[in-house]
Amino acid sequence: MNTYIEGNLKEVHKRIEEACARRGRSPEEITLIAVSKTKPLEDLKEAYRCGERTFGENKVQEIIAKAPDMPEDVRFHMIGHLQRNKVRQVIPHTALIHSVDSLRLAKQIQEDAAREGRTVDILLEVNVAREESKFGFFAEEVEDAVREICQFPNVRIRGLMTIAPFVEDPEENRAIFRKLNELSVDIARKNIDNVIMGVLSMGMTGDYEVAIEEGATMIRVGTGIFGAR
Ligand SMILES: *Cc1c(COP(=O)(O)O)cnc(C)c1O
Repeated sequence: MNTYIEGNLKEVHKRIEEACARRGRSPEEITLIAVSKTKPLEDLKEAYRCGERTFGENKVQEIIAKAPDMPEDVRFHMIGHLQRNKVRQVIPHTALIHSVDSLRLAKQIQEDAAREGRTVDILLEVNVAREESKFGFFAEEVEDAVREICQFPNVRIRGLMTIAPFVEDPEENRAIFRKLNELSVDIARKNIDNVIMGVLSMGMTGDYEVAIEEGATMIRVGTGIFGAR
């Protein structure tokens, strides 16, 4: 049985509350995304039973396979690198795409969303640490991308996302999270049409508390809820 999930979730929610308290924030500002990639449906159902409604997946096939078997009020977020030829399939099953890492991908989303008669919410992925192995815009490219994408009628930019480096000590990522927050504030100040920089998706199992202290509004926690993959 996967009863450990309940205890893990209690622990995560407690830590969210504590991190919020350190900054005078309300836990209601934080959306926990239960990252369920590679995990079986029964694990998602257990998390659902414990109250979780937002799940993160990094493969289109996995979202498509799991979504029909979960209750209607579940939202799936696409958090992994998205290939353009999979956009059309994923659109009906995802509430938010965190991983928009190129203009070409954003254009594809616009095209497929228009064809489906939908508006798709997205975040722009920023490679703050400039890691070669990572996808995403460099910080200095984000404003231009926002100015372009905000003109797409079927795409709505909701904020920014980053995948911080894997580190032993989460404090090492504090500067990364701060920088994403500053970038978000800078862009919000420009009052670009149709752009509300409301979402900051940052922080994973190893560093979500630091991310919350630095302004995260969505944290993506997998291992800390479901155990090792
Ligand atoms: C897998 C994954 C996570 C969750 O990682 P954990 O360390 O297991 O919490 C978060 N974000 C993205 C983009 C991921 O691919």
